[in-house]
Amino acid sequence: MERDIFTEEHDRFRDSVTRFVADEVVPFHDAWEREGMVPRELWIKAGGLGILCTDVPTLYGGGGEADFRYNVVVTEELAKVGASGVGFPLHNDVVVPYLLRHADDDQKQRWLPPMARGETITALAMTEPGTGSDLASITTTARREEDGSYRLNGAKTFITNGIQADLVIVCAKTDPDASHAGLSLLVVERGMAGFSRSPRLEKIGMHAQDTAELFFDDVIVPAENLLGEEGQGFGYLMEALPQERLSIAVSAIAGATAAFEATLTYAKQREAFGRPIGSFQNSRFALAEMYTKITIGQQFVDRCTVLHDRGQLTIDEAAMAKWWVTDLLGEVVDACVQLHGGYGYMREYPIARAFVDARVQRIYGGTNEIMKEIIGRSLGV
Ligand SMILES: Cc1cc2nc3c(=O)[nH]c(=O)nc-3n(C[C@H](O)[C@H](O)[C@H](O)COP(=O)(O)OP(=O)(O)OC[C@H]3O[C@@H](n4cnc5c(N)ncnc54)[C@H](O)[C@@H]3O)c2cc1C
Repeated sequence: MERDIFTEEHDRFRDSVTRFVADEVVPFHDAWEREGMVPRELWIKAGGLGILCTDVPTLYGGGGEADFRYNVVVTEELAKVGASGVGFPLHNDVVVPYLLRHADDDQKQRWLPPMARGETITALAMTEPGTGSDLASITTTARREEDGSYRLNGAKTFITNGIQADLVIVCAKTDPDASHAGLSLLVVERGMAGFSRSPRLEKIGMHAQDTAELFFDDVIVPAENLLGEEGQGFGYLMEALPQERLSIAVSAIAGATAAFEATLTYAKQREAFGRPIGSFQNSRFALAEMYTKITIGQQFVDRCTVLHDRGQLTIDEAAMAKWWVTDLLGEVVDACVQLHGGYGYMREYPIARAFVDARVQRIYGGTNEIMKEIIGRSLGV
């Protein structure tokens, strides 16, 4: 089914992103998976080509296109080739909105231009060893000092871009006695005394993605690094989470499409009992089911993208996209591994990597159970 949300300008932008991914990412991703990290130079190259911060105003060095479809193009092109290590979606889709909405002009001048150039890599740190889903229970504290700065103490875990990040938006309690109302967002920068990181966390998939634990031991964060207003952090997170969840859905549906297409080709070529394995009724049904669900899912995600650009995407609609499409991705990659037979279990086959990389998408960005809670609550139950 035709997708009709993109213009010729998006298509031209996509051509340049596709070329960048083919030349600068695909040939090296295997090596990055072994090394557990993507080189910083990739960020600089992407920045040079205008692939980062497309929606940041040109005044702050960005692409000046307040249009989420450009973000979608970048996220899709990476997902299509299984480039799960490249943390651009987290930077573009998740971190940038906080700065665009809540940073003052001085902060924007300081932080956004190097982010757009790929010189500053970013992260968002909400999850802690003791809590992920229940954000109001975080224990990282930021106590106000007499000079107005904050003394930050605590730890965050599973942080994407954690080791390479130069700028981390940290969610902390400025009022430990209050629940949601006690949360604030502070920007912690590389080099601040008392800020340290764990070695790279060993994951079962997404091996090239830099994921780490962050530690804050009496870090003095200047008042100029408070994002927005003290005590408003929870509201800011709630505002930004729909775009993060839509971004995950965009990536998941692109990944499912790529897995399906590779499997369709395989099923036409691989023979058993003297005929292509795709021609067995069971395989045809499996492929037909996947194709149908992916087509339906893509239309929903595209509709969410259009609504998001109009400022009309609701929290529960974004949650629907996130849970349904990431569940679908899990179902698709599982069926695709099965259709590949033993080869589907070999790491050299992209489908094997897609299988392990897919699993976490039901967990991060808010687990799918939490998505269903959000949707359920929106129904008044
Ligand atoms: C690879 C990776 C990258 C990540 N990147 C980031 C990042 O960049 N920044 C960041 O802040 N975090 C990040 N995370 C953390 C991620 O968002 C959390 O793991 C996730 O929100 C779940 O939190 P938790 O792990 O504490 O699980 P828990 O909250 O302990 O949940 C455990 C289980 O209980 C269920 N559960 C909890 N509460 C409820 C409820 N009310 N109703 C029903 N079921 C419930 C959950 O659905 C889950 O199945 C990342 C995680 C991974 C694995």
